[in-house]
Amino acid sequence: MIVQFGSALIELVLGDITTQEVDAIVNAANSYLAVGGGVDGAIHDAAGSEIMQELERRYPDGCPTGSAVATSAGQLSARYIFHAVGPVWQGGGKKESQLLESAYETCLNLAEQYDCQSVAFPSISTGVYRYPVDLAGEIALRTVATKLESTKQIKLVRFVLFDQGTFGCYSRILETMLV
Ligand code: ADP
Repeated sequence: MIVQFGSALIELVLGDITTQEVDAIVNAANSYLAVGGGVDGAIHDAAGSEIMQELERRYPDGCPTGSAVATSAGQLSARYIFHAVGPVWQGGGKKESQLLESAYETCLNLAEQYDCQSVAFPSISTGVYRYPVDLAGEIALRTVATKLESTKQIKLVRFVLFDQGTFGCYSRILETMLV
């Protein structure tokens, strides 16, 4: 599914983020920037061990929840990895929605700062961090759509969704945003 917002596109695909040919790939990291499982493990495996060395050297204090940091992309075809730290779902009363929005916004700002035209996002926080996919998808898509109405730099944001349930959920939300 592909939809135009402003002069840019939002695309939803079912697949593996590590193989995407885009300028920047977003990782769902943890605040220690330590290697984890899920999409983080897959990205570090595919990109190579120099990414962890770069994170330790440049960001020894980690990254706060709701923010993101940039590294090079090692063996990936992307130029950069943006390591975003989404919130752990705790029922919705711990500012999770603001923190998730801010994680996406920080990545979009990094994309502008690093001259990226295309960015691929996973579904941040909806794996081990247990954020309900319908709520997280709404925030993800609305935050990106809002940014695309105002940026000239970013031309494509691709959500790379790993399972059919997440892909279906994001697709339904994007459809409702069109009416
Ligand atoms: P978080 O800790 O932020 O919840 P996870 O990595 O546990 O992060 O999960 C985030 C989402 O990324 C989940 O939907 C998970 O299925 C998905 N995911 C796992 N591996 C990949 C991959 N290689 N490409 C894209 N998405 C992936």
